[in-house]
Amino acid sequence: MDFITIDKQGEKVKLDSIPTEPPKKSDRDAAKQELEALGEELFDLQDLLWGARMNSVLIVLQGRDTAGKDGTIKHVAGYLNPRGVYVSSFGVPTEEEREHDFLWRIHRHAPRKGELAIFNRSHYEDVLVVRVHGLVPESLWKERYGHIRDFEEMLAEHGTIILKYFLHISREEQEQRLLAREQVPRKAWKINAGDWEDREHWDDYTQAYEEALSRTSTKKAPWTIVPADSKWYRNLVVARSLVETLRPYRQAWQDRLDEVGVRKKAELAAWRKGR
Ligand code: ATP
Repeated sequence: MDFITIDKQGEKVKLDSIPTEPPKKSDRDAAKQELEALGEELFDLQDLLWGARMNSVLIVLQGRDTAGKDGTIKHVAGYLNPRGVYVSSFGVPTEEEREHDFLWRIHRHAPRKGELAIFNRSHYEDVLVVRVHGLVPESLWKERYGHIRDFEEMLAEHGTIILKYFLHISREEQEQRLLAREQVPRKAWKINAGDWEDREHWDDYTQAYEEALSRTSTKKAPWTIVPADSKWYRNLVVARSLVETLRPYRQAWQDRLDEVGVRKKAELAAWRKGR
């Protein structure tokens, strides 16, 4: 499968040279089958994650307007047991949030052990929209890459498995999606003039994303660039990368559950004996 995961800080990212479409050879029907199998495995891994309480999972979703953050959440979360999964969305900060440091509102949504959290937008907005629209001075947002790396490293040290996805769509695809939204009454609520206006900043966003991806990719908190012009391929890439990241933890989680099982058995035996 063709997708790029960056796990080294400082690697140069050129979004224009990274495909937004599925590779030519990929097959939609085969993808559907694979996705089903991955979904089942994901459900099983989440069950172990929840029971073992050794780790938590944080999925960060970023992308331009219409990139498919909601659709990805619907698909990925659809495979999971709602117990232990939640989605946090980060819009324009409230007055209270603005009076705190930029990570304050984020940190309180970090997942606890056993949980899987999905961030629909995130602390990355503070080096994206904030940068593009000049909402704080450059000297301030420039410092944030380091703060973000430190923050994510701290979460990782606490056992959080971090996956960050940039849903990569083309300019043409975004235009089609915005027009389609306008046309369908059920979807029109999602669109406003700001979405069209932001398209005028396409290149500024490209630059902001490239720098964010390059400066905040680390071994413990890598970015995956997801070709997102086709929804079926986007869902497959996210599911595949998620399963491949969690799979290596399976044995440790299973071992922990086995230990707990042995202990519980002994406790129950002692309880029965004492009756
Ligand atoms: P979405 O576009 O994510 O599907 P939406 O259009 O319904 O959602 P909200 O979720 O209410 O809108 O807010 C998203 C908006 O909030 C985006 O335009 C985003 O750039 C903006 N935003 C998020 N974080 C910040 C931030 N830290 N500072 C300024 N604006 C932010």
